[in-house]
Amino acid sequence: MNYQVDEKGYYGRFGGAYVPEILHKCVEDLQRNYLETLESDAFRQEYHHLLRTYAGRPSPLYRAGRLGAKYGCRIYLKREDLNHTGAHKINNTIGQILVARSMGKTRIIAETGAGQHGVATATVCALMNMPCVVYMGQTDVERQQPNVRKMRMLGADVVPVRSGNMTLKDATNEAIRDWCCHPSDTFYIIGSTVGPHPYPDMVARLQSVISEEIRWQLEEAEGRDFPDYLMACVGGGSNAAGTVYHYLDDERVKIVLAEAGGEGILSGRSAATIQLGKEGILHGARTLVMQDEDGQIEEPYSISAGLDYPGIGPLHANLAETKRATVLAVNDREALSAAFELTRLEGIIPALESAHVLGALPKLDFRPGDVVVLTVSGRGDKDMETYLKELIIEN
Ligand SMILES: *Cc1c(COP(=O)(O)O)cnc(C)c1O
Repeated sequence: MNYQVDEKGYYGRFGGAYVPEILHKCVEDLQRNYLETLESDAFRQEYHHLLRTYAGRPSPLYRAGRLGAKYGCRIYLKREDLNHTGAHKINNTIGQILVARSMGKTRIIAETGAGQHGVATATVCALMNMPCVVYMGQTDVERQQPNVRKMRMLGADVVPVRSGNMTLKDATNEAIRDWCCHPSDTFYIIGSTVGPHPYPDMVARLQSVISEEIRWQLEEAEGRDFPDYLMACVGGGSNAAGTVYHYLDDERVKIVLAEAGGEGILSGRSAATIQLGKEGILHGARTLVMQDEDGQIEEPYSISAGLDYPGIGPLHANLAETKRATVLAVNDREALSAAFELTRLEGIIPALESAHVLGALPKLDFRPGDVVVLTVSGRGDKDMETYLKELIIEN
């Protein structure tokens, strides 16, 4: 079995590049260049240098003793929450801006929902002295003010989008429209393993530094370089792709993905795309999409802004379809209680997104010797208001 992308940009039935005529050349240029760029010595040196000296890698692999005791196994947390800007997203934006520069691009655009990818993009644009335009739905601009302020302080032009539901999907459409108008000088930095080929593969490779580190860190800690379980949350799928990348073909390793169940997958308020989605085209790729009978995109809902995306990376759609990965829906309540559990047992306040994969722990049956690696994709600072409300209810 091979779960990697094929030469045509597909993972089984999923993937491809469904883009407007005017972008064909842009996307083809990237398809032709990205592998050679990512594998070149010059790129690798600068990328790894920045990951180390700027982003703070390697991120620790921490043995969570009390959490493990609770679930009857050996749990290690991969601490992406300790990266600069507070999540795994910086791994990707550092990589893509280096690709952009090597292709001679001089202007960066991005879409953002919760604002986390917008901040990570604005950060590397400041670092590389490149102009940056971030498209963000008006609704999201209003509810994610701290991130909007950070982006503006970093020098990015944040453009509120007032079409549709004024959320991520609409911001994405606007970013694609911008790209169509400026195909020669502009590079579109996509924030997850989504979009037309080669984005899902490029982003997965840039995040694969996570599983590369897990391999030697586990060897050091356990004397074997593979776990029994790998666990990650999925919005578009980038932290999960990075977590599993080097283990995809290693059938000794079980893969568990947690998607956002919202108020319950049958409640009509959910973002459980893998379980509820039907095949369709979104954001330039064939994948599972939350849509109604007429193919209209359904607005996803989750307590976590980073997980309410109506699609899923084509890599992950294929992992679910081939049953290589087990996909569990974790609802708002379960995630909140898992966030408090981690905080009280280990002194680590996780991002609400990461809380969803922690909420999958009680749904699994571990054996005492099992080695479990769970990726904490980000830190909870941005979610303190939601957590505080929960504390008030608790008391
Ligand atoms: C954006 C985000 C996610 C979801 O994105 P993926 O591409 O699925 O990883 C998860 N966790 C955090 C902390 C995020 O900021």
